[in-house]
Amino acid sequence: MTATRPQPRPGVLDIAPYIPGKSTAPGVAKVFKLSSNETPLGPSEHAVAAYADIGKRLEDYPDGASAALREAIGNAYGLDPARIVCGAGSDDLLNLIARAYLADGDEAIHTTHGFLVYPIATLGTGAKPVVAAETNFTADVDAILKLVTPKTKVVFLANPNNPTGTYIPFDEVKRLHRALPGNVLLVLDAAYAEYVQRNDYESGLELVATSDNVVMTRTFSKIYGLAALRLGWMVGPAHVVDAINRIRGPFNVNAPAIAAGIAAMRDTAHVERSRTHNSKWLEWLTAEIGKLGLTVTPSVANFVLIHFPQTKGRTATEANDFLMKRGLVLRQVTAYQLPNALRMSVGTEEANRLVVQALKDFLGQSA
Ligand SMILES: *Cc1c(COP(=O)(O)O)cnc(C)c1O
Repeated sequence: MTATRPQPRPGVLDIAPYIPGKSTAPGVAKVFKLSSNETPLGPSEHAVAAYADIGKRLEDYPDGASAALREAIGNAYGLDPARIVCGAGSDDLLNLIARAYLADGDEAIHTTHGFLVYPIATLGTGAKPVVAAETNFTADVDAILKLVTPKTKVVFLANPNNPTGTYIPFDEVKRLHRALPGNVLLVLDAAYAEYVQRNDYESGLELVATSDNVVMTRTFSKIYGLAALRLGWMVGPAHVVDAINRIRGPFNVNAPAIAAGIAAMRDTAHVERSRTHNSKWLEWLTAEIGKLGLTVTPSVANFVLIHFPQTKGRTATEANDFLMKRGLVLRQVTAYQLPNALRMSVGTEEANRLVVQALKDFLGQSA
């Protein structure tokens, strides 16, 4: 039967729309937004200046190849700029990867608490997201490998993962890669790589350089503090870069983002300050919230996942309401299969201390 109105392709209406972190708390004068893993230090002042300068020339199209930005990234990481593609956030790149490598009937694997963009990008192509169980809120290589079938075309792995903050050591990433068929594209999403301070962690640059089926995505939204500009990049083998370049928008990255990104990449002192701030307060929050009797999943990123009991008066939803009234905006993560947890970005010292005090008051109330 012919439909009476236009129909989206199969899969599109199966997508649960992405709900971004809240940015306001009704009725509260001062709001601390700790819901989207933004940096409390803001961007480099050089990035802000470069951004403002482009305001004088808004009539000009950006460089569609983002050549100067790719060169700056290449210099910083020792990469061939020809192997880099820039995008309007890593979201853009993840969606382009899905569009280039997935079709109706294909499968893409991600993990239970994996980033929500993976199933959204997958369903949008008509392919099927296949969910691999995690162990202790951490990706499980064996569980992923068990789900690989001839239909599998892509494996998405956030390392570290959001919203759990956990990671798998590079040896495990290599073991995963070794066991994957050569026609499966392994996508390593390293959005939080700059924050990780673990000897057994690597973002995957070496694996990308030496394989035909691995790409890595990175973002300027987190440690670089440029989330508003929507800027990310990926590095991959020449044949993947070629495919992505054919389907991306010809001007998919805007000029202010390119200018700010170059300046941000060069300001290594600012990145270092952000990393130092994060390490200190990540450790402090994990310890202090733990002392209140709540479980915090050990995180290597710039946020913590806090687990709440299911007892009335103590639940994650009630804690969220309580914190909201004080202007402390955390993230509910029910959409990530974590109904009993809240995710909190590492904030300023003031915000971090206020959250710990508020949680103490919340738990101190009689239920
Ligand atoms: C925040 C985040 C990104 C970055 O997305 P952008 O589109 O670059 O802002 C990518 N992957 C994960 C897992 C994230 O948490």
